[in-house]
Formats: sequence, structure tokens, C-alpha cells
Amino acid sequence: MRMVFFTGLMLFAVMLLGALFIYQTVHVNAASRVPDTLEPQSPFDGPRAYQDLEIVVGFGPRPSGSEALEECRAYIIGELEKAGLEVHQHAFKADTPLGPKPMVNIVGVVEGTEPGIIILGNHYETKYYTDFEFVGANDGGSTTAWMIEMARVMGPTREGRSLWLLFFDGEEAFVEWTEEDSLYGSREFVEYLEQAGRLVDVHAMINVDMIGDCYLTITRDRGAPSWLEAIIWDQAKELGYGQYFLPTSKLISDDHIPFRRRGIPAINIIDFMYGGSPLEHRRNWHTERDTIDRVCASSLQIVGDVIYHALPKVEAQLALE
Ligand SMILES: [Zn+2]
Repeated sequence: MRMVFFTGLMLFAVMLLGALFIYQTVHVNAASRVPDTLEPQSPFDGPRAYQDLEIVVGFGPRPSGSEALEECRAYIIGELEKAGLEVHQHAFKADTPLGPKPMVNIVGVVEGTEPGIIILGNHYETKYYTDFEFVGANDGGSTTAWMIEMARVMGPTREGRSLWLLFFDGEEAFVEWTEEDSLYGSREFVEYLEQAGRLVDVHAMINVDMIGDCYLTITRDRGAPSWLEAIIWDQAKELGYGQYFLPTSKLISDDHIPFRRRGIPAINIIDFMYGGSPLEHRRNWHTERDTIDRVCASSLQIVGDVIYHALPKVEAQLALE
């Protein structure tokens, strides 16, 4: 009798552990969807940014040197100019494993009242694929639209440092991600600033990448200055967006790295779990499934609200140094 009771107890314990394990894998690693609509907490207009995204994705796959990217570039420049920004194009030829490729970085300038520059960066090209249609709605598209809306929100001038909205070309690898085959635009731009003696004017750099996922989970950037990270994460919490800015961290190579290497305080705002789970990420990232139906206006809104309110705090901190 005692034996039966003991066996039963063991069985129950095993089942309990099993259930706990299943719960862990399904729920703890899974993210929940952002609400369909959100009350904006800044002048940033998520649904308006989403309309830009529809246009951007409508150009089709936009790898470096393509006609589609040229059309996309014309659209970006047109919108930045409509918003009153001064626009510069930084053209160069990149040596890639697939031969030389023409590339163009775009700079939208919000003229500040103080000396110094803060850069808000993203990449606007999509990864080159020949075997399937890659439109990069999230990877390349979401931030392009987000930056266009940020330009409208900021307008031609601002109190404080100048804000440079940087649209980098050639972030993606052509063959395989290496030091040489990646980050063409940002590496070239940092080089250019150095040559021009202007790198010292850049006081901080915030990069955004893949921020449109309906299952928004932005992880901390291991390697970012803690003060810069704290401002952004505290801001998210203050606006009630704490659940989208996770406490866990990842180190992801992106367009902020060339700046960080030159000693500029730099942070990458990225959601590197595209979809509701790690399994979904593997299905969605750099595949034909990176389509606009997986991107939400509310995610653009959340990141827009956070960065809009964080910027003056970044300025205030820089003034103390
Ligand atoms: Zn990518």
C-alpha cells in the first residue's frame, strides 16, 4: 500500500515537472502581440509611419545598387525635404565579394541651436537574395518608415544639438557576415567624418533596426554605455512600455559598431526575436516571410514615443560631461 502511494506520488511529481517545463518553453520564451491601436504619447504618428512602410515595401526587394533602392531613396529624400530638413547624399563605391557596388548614405539634418551632433541611424537597403523575394518589411523597411516619421516630428530645427537622421546603405552582408562583408555604409560614413575632422562633433549615436515586429521584444545592448541604456529603458518604463524593453541583453553587430569603435557613445535598439518565439524568429528573419502583415503600427509608435522623449534626456546627460 505504501509502495503504491509512493509510486503515485513520484508519478505526480514527474507530471508536475513536465507541465512546468512545457509552460516554460511556451510562455516564458514567448512574447505577446502589441495592441492593434495605441494612444500616442508623443507627436510621433505610428499609423502615418505605417503608410510610409506600405510605400517603401511596395518598391519590392531593395538591395544596394538596385533600381528599387534608387526609387526608395528618392522617396526618402522627398519626404525629408517636405519635412523641411536639409538633405545630403554620401555616395561611394563598396568592394563586396560580388564586386564593386555603388552605395549612397542619406543624411537628413535637423539643425540645432547648440554645437555638436546626435546621430539617429538605420539601414534602408534590404539583404540581397536571388532565390526568393525578400521585401524586408521589418528588416530595412520598418526603420526607414520610422525615420521618415521622425523627420516630420522633428522638423527643420530644434533646441539643443543638431540631429542627423542617417539612412545607411549596405548594412547587410552580400555573401556571409564578416568584418569586411557588412556595415559598408556606416563604416564608410565614419571614415568620411574622420577625414573631414567632424567625428569629434558626434556626441552620441542611437541606431534602430527591426523595430516593427508585432511581437515587440527589444533587448538591452551589451556594450552600450550604461547611462545611455538607462535613459532609454527608464523612459520606456515611464511610458508604460516596460514589457517591450526587456531586461535581458544581446550583443548584435550593427551600424552603431563603427561609431562605438571610435569612442562615441552608441546604442542599438533592436528586436532580434522576429515573431512571438525563437522558433518563429528562425522562420521570419531573412526569409520571404518578412512581410508587412508581420509589422504593426503600434510597435513603430512605441519606439517612436520612447526615443522622442529620451532625446532631451540624452542631451541633458551629455551637457554634464
Ligand atoms: Zn538583416
